[in-house]
Formats: sequence, structure tokens, C-alpha cells
Amino acid sequence: MAEFTMELNDEQREVRDWLHGFAADVIRPAAAEWDEREETPWPVIQEAAKVGIYSLDFYAQQYFDPTGLGIPMAMEELFWGDAGIALSIVGTGLAAVGVLANGTEEQIGTWIPQMYGDQTDVKVAAFCSSEPDAGSDVASMRTRAVYDEAADEWVINGTKTWATNGGIAGVHVVVASVDPELGSKGHASFIVPPGTAGLAQGQKFKKHGIRASHTAEVILDHVRVPGSCLLGGKEKLDERLARAREKAKAAGGERVKNAAMATFEASRPAVGAMAVGTARAAYEVALDYARTREQFGRPIIDNQGVAFQLADMRTQIDAARLLVWRASWMAVNGRPFTAAEGSMSKLFASETAKKVTAQAIQILGGNGYTREYPVERMHRDSAIYTIFEGTSEIQRLVIARTLAGMTIR
Ligand SMILES: Cc1cc2nc3c(=O)[nH]c(=O)nc-3n(C[C@H](O)[C@H](O)[C@H](O)COP(=O)(O)OP(=O)(O)OC[C@H]3O[C@@H](n4cnc5c(N)ncnc54)[C@H](O)[C@@H]3O)c2cc1C
Repeated sequence: MAEFTMELNDEQREVRDWLHGFAADVIRPAAAEWDEREETPWPVIQEAAKVGIYSLDFYAQQYFDPTGLGIPMAMEELFWGDAGIALSIVGTGLAAVGVLANGTEEQIGTWIPQMYGDQTDVKVAAFCSSEPDAGSDVASMRTRAVYDEAADEWVINGTKTWATNGGIAGVHVVVASVDPELGSKGHASFIVPPGTAGLAQGQKFKKHGIRASHTAEVILDHVRVPGSCLLGGKEKLDERLARAREKAKAAGGERVKNAAMATFEASRPAVGAMAVGTARAAYEVALDYARTREQFGRPIIDNQGVAFQLADMRTQIDAARLLVWRASWMAVNGRPFTAAEGSMSKLFASETAKKVTAQAIQILGGNGYTREYPVERMHRDSAIYTIFEGTSEIQRLVIARTLAGMTIR
């Protein structure tokens, strides 16, 4: 009867400890260097591939953990090591999930292995959805894919931005509009194979944080891909478009209004877990410092003003983790997100990471403000969590609209 447990099983503990070891021994020591270099840490990705952390098998195994804790645990440990390097390691997963979610078995079997490459020749992949004029407002995407029936090819034109691994990836997964009238219902995803003519990297962004992760524009200029690169296939797309057109007709030709974006409910907890990892890392540095740094003849943690900050930091981190675990458990067990629990977890964990890393700087005083200590980097890194995969405002919008019973798409 007593089925509920908060304890990790032996296998989960083993995986967590193994990941923690990699994060502590390989990722963390390399963090400052790659942050300064602002380059993809290929040798670290290679190392991760060698031990089995950079592979589809590893993430598939974690994903199918029936408790739902496999992915959040992995994300927390890797991002505890360093957010920029960890994103370079897990960024390919974004594109892989895009194929897993929409692709046929054949497409999954063909493209996902190519996204990772192999231990001797690692590759990364990119998922390209955001555009200069379509960030939160995904429906206003301008990139177009037009079918050339005679050649059985799709022709893609447009500019993508903020793509993690954009331009340095082998395989790019590109979301494009095939029917602009239908807004986001008229979107489809395409594989752009390595070396395809017409795809080029635009500007590479210099960033505030996660600087070891490559972020760039991707320009698509008359990119031609075979019909087989449409994820899910043409038949399924045509059926989906026909249904969407019928619905739009029934709604008097109007697009669905006041729709909250629920598509990412199941993947958002993973971003929450990344934020928990960064927050926990900064908290641990601050706790250690507060215990050992002495002022006025005693450790600074003996001052309530410092100790209470640490108490709040730890409480918020633990609360964030619990929200993430709940949402991950719901996703794996197919529970409906009736209160947008996925968005809740991402919202709370990402805001917590920003707050906790700022408090860590305060506790370290002058040292916290320098690059001699890692909390300054962790604070810069943490700012991304409230922006990508939907900003905090968009999470609040999704939660609020879900609670209000509005249409979710
Ligand atoms: C480092 C990095 C990596 C990224 N990686 C990828 C990637 O791999 N692939 C990809 O496709 N995208 C990626 N993105 C893009 C990311 O998902 C977008 O930046 C994000 O969705 C926000 O879009 P935007 O930047 O255009 O901001 P905007 O949508 O322009 O928002 C600007 C501000 O307005 C607010 N706002 C907008 N609409 C509303 C509203 N209705 N109500 C209240 N407030 C609102 C936002 O919350 C935000 O504060 C990445 C971004 C960054 C910075």
C-alpha cells in the first residue's frame, strides 16, 4: 500500500553519482576556461561521448525511467558542473526530441545517430525555431517551406535566430510554415542534412552567460531537402492541415485566440532541472564560504543576516526540485497538466536560480564579484533560464490561461 516514496532507487543513485563524478572531475574544472574562450568545448563533449554521457542511448534510458526522475536528475548534475558546457552536451537533445516527437521510425533511425556522431568523431545538432520577429510569438514565424512536387523536394527560405549549435551542427531541425494562414497549426519540421547547400551560419552571438554554448543565426536561402526530410511524412501533414483548415473555417476563418502554449509542458521541467543544478552549485559555494570566511572574529555564517539567506536559498532550491520532479513524473505517466505544472516548475526554478546565484555573490562579498570564484559566472549563466523555452512571462501566461480554462494549444 505504501507506494509513495521520495527515495531514489539504487539504480538512480548510481547514475546520479556517476554523473556527479563527471560533472565534478571533468566539467567544473573546465568551466572558467570555456566561459572565457566563448567556444564550443569539443574536447569535453568528446570525453562525455567516451564515457557514454553524450549519446542517444543514455538520454533514452533516462527518459524512459518510469518515475520520471531520470532526465531531471541528469540535467541537475550536469548543470551543477557548468551550465555552458552542459548545454553544449545536452543541446543536441533538443533537436533529437524534435525528431522523436514528430518523426517516423525510419527518420528516427536515420537521423538521430547522425546528430551525435560517434566517439571518435562527435557531432552536434541544432533545433531552429525562433526568428528575429518570432520569439515568444511563435505563430508569426516567417520561414516558409514550399513543396516542389515535380522534384519531391521542399524548398525552405528564411532566417532563424538564437539557435543553439546553429551553423556548427551537422543535422539542423528547422521549423517552417507550410501554411501561414493557419498560424502555428501550419508549421512543420524538417531535417536539413549535413552539408546541404543554402544553409549558412549568420551572426554568432556574444552572450552574457552560458558562453561555452554556441548560439547563432541560421540563414536558409533556397535550401532544398528531399521529401523524406519532412518529419512525420507528407500524408500525415496533409491530414493535419486539412483538420486545421476545417477548424479554422468553423471558427469563421479566425485563428484561435487567447491560446496558451502548452506544447512544451512536458519538456519544460528539464529546463527547471538545469536551473536547480546551477542554483545548487552556487548555494554550495556560498555555504562553504560562509562557514570558513571570518570577519569580526567569527565565521560569517554566525550572523543571522547571512545564515537566514542560506536557509532561504536552500528552501527555494528544494521547493524548485520538488516542482520539477512532480511535473516530470506527470509527463512520463501521461497525467494531464491541468494547472500547467510543467510551466510552474520552469518558472519557479528559473527565478530561483537567478535569485540564489545573486545571493551567493552577496555572501562571497568582493570575492563573489570576481572571476576568481565561480558564483559570478553562475549568476550570468542563470539569466538564460528565465528566457529560453518560454520566458517567465510566457510561463505565467500559460499558467494563468490554464487556470482560467482558456484554450490551450
Ligand atoms: C542563449 C539562447 C539559446 C537559445 N536557443 C534556442 C534554440 O536552440 N532554438 C530556438 O528555436 N530558440 C532558441 N532560443 C530562443 C528563445 O527561445 C527565445 O529567445 C525566447 O523564446 C524569447 O523570445 P525573444 O527573445 O524573441 O523575446 P520576445 O518574445 O521578444 O520577448 C521580449 C520580452 O517581452 C515579453 N513578452 C513577450 N510577449 C509577452 C506577452 N504576451 N505577455 C507578457 N510579456 C511578453 C517576454 O517575456 C520578454 O520579457 C535561445 C535563446 C537564447 C538567448
